[in-house]
Amino acid sequence: GITLGLETSCDETGVGIVADGVLLGQALASSMDEHIRYGGVVPEVAARAHLESVTSCLRQALADAGVALEQVDAIAVTSGPGLASSLHVGVSAAKAWALALNKPLYAVHHVAGHVAADTLQHGPLPDRSIALIVSGGHSSLLMLGDLATDPIVHLGDTLDDAAGEAFDKVARLLELPYPGGPSIQRAAESGDPAAIDLPRPLLTNFSERQRYAFSFSGLKSAVARYVQLARRTGEPIRTADVAASFQEAVVDVLISKAVAACRDHAVDTLLIVGGVAANARLRAVAAERCLAAGITLRVPAPRLCTDNGAMIAAIGDLVVRSGAKPSGLDFGADSSAPLDRSLLV
Ligand code: ATP
Ligand code: MG
Ligand code: FE
Repeated sequence: GITLGLETSCDETGVGIVADGVLLGQALASSMDEHIRYGGVVPEVAARAHLESVTSCLRQALADAGVALEQVDAIAVTSGPGLASSLHVGVSAAKAWALALNKPLYAVHHVAGHVAADTLQHGPLPDRSIALIVSGGHSSLLMLGDLATDPIVHLGDTLDDAAGEAFDKVARLLELPYPGGPSIQRAAESGDPAAIDLPRPLLTNFSERQRYAFSFSGLKSAVARYVQLARRTGEPIRTADVAASFQEAVVDVLISKAVAACRDHAVDTLLIVGGVAANARLRAVAAERCLAAGITLRVPAPRLCTDNGAMIAAIGDLVVRSGAKPSGLDFGADSSAPLDRSLLV
């Protein structure tokens, strides 16, 4: 069957069309440019932009896939987590489409979508795998079984900021443009990753509960102290070196813990997903260390890492094929939906 997916949880409006694990087409619109001067996503601005572009994204995705609206068999929509006002637009649009077409509607988890995105590129998941999800709102290590039907087990989460949030905050400290991740990556290219000695939070000193937990706020504070000291002493801020050193510290902690989690649980497949998985240094270090540890690494192409509609169609397609019951039309958006399963309602 053909599943259409709609994503509107943040500032990207995305529609994807998937049939039996194959991406047929997609369309993406972003209101990122409208948020640049505020240094972060403004919820009301994002919601209005979703409303304005959701119909054209639908048309574009159908055209891209060469699929007629009547051929769509099921609709999946992100119902959480994310910005409430943004989620509401997508949920309302998807309900209208489902009602007009008389098709089943599935409310799915945004982060399960990030994980499912990888299956569009690398095929079905093995029986067991571990996922490192690193994005604007999440930094977690997850134990996965069957993505559509099995519960998702959290091995560890961030105790404070998400990895993407840390990139965005450090970029702001360095007066680099929003969004911070790509800016830091660019600045880091000409920097020395060993120039500034930054901490590796929870990498060596951790309690048993913190074995797979992350913490990035201390790293951000260390960068803030460096910047303040430089300002006070009148020294130039070595932006490229700070960016490279910060990026290296984040990547080191993320990949070390992900590889350890695989080893400890005798899991031989690691997925890295979410916006920060687009980071070139993270991808390089992950490839190197997974090869050394005999772990099969799966990281989707950068455009499948950041928010998009294809990932929601991908998780929708898996859920539909598992034979799950549709969500009906009486659910709402859940801005803080916990990730313990892919189908939310
Ligand atoms: P969530 O998925 O947790 O709800 P989100 O949808 O806002 O959050 P994504 O779109 O998945 O997040 O990811 C956006 C984040 O990824 C931003 O914090 C951004 O800075 C970061 N990011 C994007 N590209 C890169 C990159 N090349 N390097 C590092 N970080 C990046
Ligand atoms: Mg975004
Ligand atoms: Fe996301």
